[in-house]
Parts: sequence; structure tokens; C-alpha cells
Amino acid sequence: MTFLAIEHISKHFDDTPALQGVSLEVARGEILCLLGPSGCGKTTLLRIIAGLEQPDTGRILFQGQDVTAIPSHRRGVGLMFQDYVLFPHMTVGENIAFGLKMQGWSRQAIAHRVQELLQLVAMPGYEDRRVYELSGGQQQRVALARSLAPSPQLLMLDEPLGALDRTLRDQLLLELRDILKHLGQTAIYVTHDQVEAFAVADRVALMRAGRIEQIDTPEGLYLRPASPFVARFLGMTNILSGELLQREPPQVRTPLGLLHLAQVPGAFRPGDSLTLVIRPESARLGRAPFPGPNALVATLLTRSFRGAHTLIQLLGPDQQTRLTFEIPGPRCMAQPGERVYVHLDPDGIVALAQEQEL
Ligand code: ATP
Repeated sequence: MTFLAIEHISKHFDDTPALQGVSLEVARGEILCLLGPSGCGKTTLLRIIAGLEQPDTGRILFQGQDVTAIPSHRRGVGLMFQDYVLFPHMTVGENIAFGLKMQGWSRQAIAHRVQELLQLVAMPGYEDRRVYELSGGQQQRVALARSLAPSPQLLMLDEPLGALDRTLRDQLLLELRDILKHLGQTAIYVTHDQVEAFAVADRVALMRAGRIEQIDTPEGLYLRPASPFVARFLGMTNILSGELLQREPPQVRTPLGLLHLAQVPGAFRPGDSLTLVIRPESARLGRAPFPGPNALVATLLTRSFRGAHTLIQLLGPDQQTRLTFEIPGPRCMAQPGERVYVHLDPDGIVALAQEQEL
């Protein structure tokens, strides 16, 4: 049976439609990320699942049971929100014990559970410390321990690491995922940061204007974005229009010339207009023209060394189309203004239907 089912949830605030018929399912032990730009409805959906907000229409089912009318404190959800801060006047141990006391656990059971959780979040021996003595990262670990203490059947995390700097966030993300997977904890994680979503999630639901635009594994989203919106949100900027000339093998006429694709979705017929996304890692540069298809002659506009890769901007052979690629390492030796020979990997070119207006 599906662990959590969200069925046709809609919610308006005055005239603003925050959610429009959202349905999705979460399996037991799965970490699902709600990802999307500011205002797309992520927090509203999270709050409705947690029971902190009522939907206008639709149902929430926990293991087949309709909990839509059940108050938050009886749904067995744990919350870890960016603004759901620790109690500053309490010790670390008292913070972790808070939910357990509310549930009437015995002193002995609480003490044991607090030790267990401090081990889990790699902070043994910290139970008597005051919250204000801790670093930002340690505070987030304690917040995680506090929300996990009552063993919630579902953990909800809303931008839990939003206040931390990038390096600390990256480190904590890996730890957070390990902890949740180790426990087999089912979790819903809200973020507007794609890197964060990809690092923590089993599946990602990418939201747009109150709807789910695409739901897939991180790899699935990246390799097969379903729309130009998804591609753009994931940072892919090489988006052009084209016309399918033939399906076998797939060939598309584009402003860059004829491009060969590895595959094209079954719905497209020769003569159809489509949108192409060229992923940023799919270009190779050479000193001489590449033989065969997908070879371009372009002009290097800019070159920016980023460590593991060099970011290059090219002007296509039509003198109009700008393309951005990541070339591994410091490998681009050409200077801005020079001509470069480029080969595009057919596997890195994705064919999509053209953007629908919302
Ligand atoms: P962010 O990443 O900025 O937190 P979000 O994707 O979580 O955004 P929501 O906070 O769910 O988006 O908001 C969705 C829409 O509903 C927005 O247009 C927002 O202004 C509106 N909204 C949310 N809560 C309320 C409220 N309590 N009253 C009025 N409008 C609201």
C-alpha cells in the first residue's frame, strides 16, 4: 500500500491559487523533495500534509487512512523548519526531550532516547550544553535530533539548512541523507535549491505555479527534463527551437545547422516543431574540424575557469545563438574572439514539446 497519497489538493488564499490539483504518492522510507521557485506552493503543500493548513479540495491519505480532517498533532509528523528554532533557554538534551515529555515518556526512557539521538547526529556528550554555545551546524543537528526523537512516521523539512553557508550545507546534506536512510525515515524536504534537492532526494517533484511540472529521480530529471521550464530551472541555458526532419535516426534542423539526436520522443512526427535542450556537459572542443555530424564552428566569447571545469560561452555559426558549456578541467586553451571547433554529443541533446503558456 502507498505510504502517503496526496490526492487532487487545491488551495486558494483570497484570489491567489497556491495549489491547483496536486496529486502525488510517497513510498515508505522514501525522501521526496519539493523543489521549485519562490511562491510555487511548496510550503503550502508541506503545511497541508502536516495538517497545519486545510486544503480547499482533495485528500491526504496515510497508509490508506484519510487524515485530511485529523489535527496536526495526531498525524505523527515531525517538523524541521528553518524558522522552527530551538528553545534557547534549554539545554541540548532538554530540547531533544521536549516532544517526548509532551508524549508522557518516562524519565528513564527519555534519557536513553536522548543519548541514542546524540549518537545518531554525531554529538555525543553535548546533552548539557546550552543552545547558544553551539555553532549553526550543531544547532541544525540538534533540531534534527529533536524532530526525530518521537520517531515520526513522516518527517517534514522546510529549507532546514537555508541559513547555513554553502560548505557547511553541503556537508550536512550528506549527513542528513545518511541519517534518514539509516533510519528508513520517510521524509518530505522543501527547497528552492536544485543542488540541495539532488543531493538529498530519492525523487524530486519540481513545482511550478501550484502544480507539479515533473516528478522523477534526480538523474531522471537531469537527463530527461520534461519541459523547457524544468530545463531552465535546472540551470540549462542552451535552449533552441527546431524542426524534426526524420525520426530514424533522429535529425533536427536548428539555427546551428542539422543536429543528430540519440532519440526523440515517440509523439513527434517529421515536420513537427520542437524545443531542443543541449546539456552543458555535452560539448567537446578541438583544434581541427570534427568529422561527421554535430560538428560546429563557433566563436569563443568568454572563458571562466571554475576548478573542476571551465565555463565557456560560444557564439554559434549563425552569429546569433549563444551557447554555454562546461569543459572538464582547465582544458579550453582558446582565447576569447578565436574560432573553436565543437562537437555536440547526441546523448546530450534532449527534444521537448514547445513551451505551453500557463
Ligand atoms: P517560498 O520558497 O518563497 O517559501 P513556496 O514555494 O513555499 O515559496 P508558498 O509559501 O507555498 O510558496 O506560497 C504559494 C503562494 O501562496 C504564494 O503566492 C504565496 O504568496 C501565497 N500564500 C502562502 N501562504 C499564504 C497566506 N497565509 N496568506 C496569503 N497568501 C499566502
